[in-house]
Amino acid sequence: MCYNLPADMSRKCIAQNKGHNEGISVSPMSIRVSHPKPPPTDDLTSTWHPSELEEIIQAVRLVAPDFRLKDLSLLRGEPIESIHQALAQSFKDLPDFARYMWTESVWSPALVGAFDGVEPPVSRKKLPRLLKKEGGALANNPDEAYRLIVQRAWGEYEFLRVARRYLRILARAAVQRADYVQDAYTIPGFLSLLVDKSGFIWAAKDRFSAAVDGVDGKRIRICENCDHIFWAERINAPCCSTRCASIIRNQLARYLRKQGYPPNVRLTKNEEAKKAVIINAWRERRRSRNPYGEA
Ligand SMILES: [Zn+2]
Repeated sequence: MCYNLPADMSRKCIAQNKGHNEGISVSPMSIRVSHPKPPPTDDLTSTWHPSELEEIIQAVRLVAPDFRLKDLSLLRGEPIESIHQALAQSFKDLPDFARYMWTESVWSPALVGAFDGVEPPVSRKKLPRLLKKEGGALANNPDEAYRLIVQRAWGEYEFLRVARRYLRILARAAVQRADYVQDAYTIPGFLSLLVDKSGFIWAAKDRFSAAVDGVDGKRIRICENCDHIFWAERINAPCCSTRCASIIRNQLARYLRKQGYPPNVRLTKNEEAKKAVIINAWRERRRSRNPYGEA
């Protein structure tokens, strides 16, 4: 079983060692995330997609800007019932995020179903049975297993929080200041470490590094309307969807009308230049809103 591994490693482990129950048998090769690199291209529009990065972006979108998950590790010593309560309370308004967290945090596909949903629904009767079926050593200690899963869910949330922060930093750096990206960013706590059966330590490229390594940062963009991060096929796409794009178009048109620039009016070169300055300032003002309280 792979339940001692960090979530990302255990996913690989499940994928590659399906059906094996013979302890940790993960080599550094098998925990390395394989990441197909895009062909070098200057195309302004590219249909190549970084699937791992998009997975992270999708997950990040599930978390509302003002959501702060209570530090579940503080509950470690509490009875399971209190942890249930705290989780149910935390996830009340974020059912999709709750589902995602359980899916990412539970090592066994059979267990995911048991954790799925807003309420942390694993009954203490059901958990040992499921654990037994999966052959896990924690089958005899369902409380401990539950705590482990909760801890991992917390880890996943922390991962997404930091990922969101750095995606926003990278998105801005790549677009605004080409020289800025030459700086290195050190992101704490992302390295995946594994101590194997013989006590040797393996360091795996973590999920975030693997996902952003080699991708064109100019395509990691922040939607001008909803402020979510998205991957842009068209390199200067300002919005994540046609819906957001049309909202922005209408708002901008309204603003320009107020500024004395109604649509479909022929302008002199001078007036065009002035209008462009007004549009840029408007976009800049929108960009500087920061509902996430993050960079
Ligand atoms: Zn949007």
